[in-house]
Amino acid sequence: MEFIPFLKPKVVPRQYYQRYLDEIDASRIYTNNGPLNKRFEKQILQQYFNNEGDVVTVSNATIGLLLAISQQKRPGKYALMPSFTFPATPLSALWCGLEPYYIDIDKDHWCMDEHMLEVALEKLGDEVAVVVPYATFGTELDLKYYDSLIQRGIPVVIDAASSFGTTMQEDNVFHFGGAMVYSFHATKSFGIGEGGIVYSGNRELIQRIRYSTNFGFNEERVSGQLGLNGKISEYAAAVGLATLDVFPEKIKIREQIGEWYKEAWNKYKLAEAGWNFQAVKGKVAYQFYPLLCPSGQENQYYVNKLHASAIQVRTYFSPPCHRQKMFELQPRTSLAVTEDISRRILSLPVWEDISQEQIERIVRSLIHE
Ligand SMILES: *Cc1c(COP(=O)(O)O)cnc(C)c1O
Repeated sequence: MEFIPFLKPKVVPRQYYQRYLDEIDASRIYTNNGPLNKRFEKQILQQYFNNEGDVVTVSNATIGLLLAISQQKRPGKYALMPSFTFPATPLSALWCGLEPYYIDIDKDHWCMDEHMLEVALEKLGDEVAVVVPYATFGTELDLKYYDSLIQRGIPVVIDAASSFGTTMQEDNVFHFGGAMVYSFHATKSFGIGEGGIVYSGNRELIQRIRYSTNFGFNEERVSGQLGLNGKISEYAAAVGLATLDVFPEKIKIREQIGEWYKEAWNKYKLAEAGWNFQAVKGKVAYQFYPLLCPSGQENQYYVNKLHASAIQVRTYFSPPCHRQKMFELQPRTSLAVTEDISRRILSLPVWEDISQEQIERIVRSLIHE
């Protein structure tokens, strides 16, 4: 039986960025917001953000989250966020001296439950320093709602690590006043190795985040605010530019894989068998394909079952953050939906040359006795 791995990342091959490497050799500029980085940011802004607001590259999304939180947080103690996320979300808040406060997720779209968030905001008042929603598995968030929080004086930093390439239904992303942080890690849809961006409709905010990626230096190279080294090198920008050249194609492939999962879902009647998928908004360029096994069952059973069929799967995010040692003692709302979903979640293989037959085999193996 042919082995199907969970992921098989495929960053653009060398010949695609050779010409950019030649430019580096000629310019002898290797980092510090060099010409390739400038072009990379400019093209991202033009091609994916309607040339509105501003964008800054960061060495990875974790540093992006940390810097965005650090630049936006107001006095207060808590960073409100879901527990159903990658540990980078609570860790970045901890590095900013804040305590994560976990809010349950919605049972359909698996993002933070906005009603529970409102109750927590009411209860905690001034103690809330920032709200950090996660756009779960690349889905679009209700940005109008989160913009309304900003109007109310509550800073918002969105963990959009898995969202680059999602086709937005609404264009209010371009005016969003908070920060949105995207990851370019090799396993993400726009994979370049390590890297990421922070986007905001607020240019002044991006300027401050840019200073903070370079030791807090202002234009006079005087350290005027908190900073660190969060820049990308020109080599990373070279791979990034080459990836932009082919990204529309990559998005199509990843959307197609999502369609194939839906087709197999129908063919093998998963709904009738009690399976669920995520109610996503926008068209997602999938990084992997998430599914929920039937209520009352556990994902580990299916992990083993697929393993026996030579198929590798994962269970993001199981255990959820609040079940991990580092985050165990932090405050929270009831997390009943998070508990239920993280027990049932399966992350199925996605990679750019996976075939429809392989996807059928994966889905068939889920329900096959
Ligand atoms: C991948 C990911 C991150 C971290 O991104 P890096 O670029 O690897 O730092 C953070 N949050 C979520 C939800 C992620 O999926």
